[in-house]
Amino acid sequence: MRQYQKQTNELEKVICNCCGRELKVERGILKEGACRLETGWGYFSNKDMEKHSFDLCEACYDQWISGFSVPVEITEETEFFPAADGEEDA
Ligand SMILES: [Zn+2]
Repeated sequence: MRQYQKQTNELEKVICNCCGRELKVERGILKEGACRLETGWGYFSNKDMEKHSFDLCEACYDQWISGFSVPVEITEETEFFPAADGEEDA
């Protein structure tokens, strides 16, 4: 989960939803690897129009995907585009 400063909307805190660890955030910038997932559940789901989101630290992400029957698809990013919440290549 993410907390933003109310006045500036700057990223204040990122907490791994799985283990509860607080990730390193400096001056509004997330300084470690994390997985942010946002998904909207549509009419054909049992979660009619709910929007779910969570953050995972890298260790919890690795643990999670290691249980997948089919491995995640991995490609390399040729360019890194800073995210809207101020994440950037360190
Ligand atoms: Zn974690």
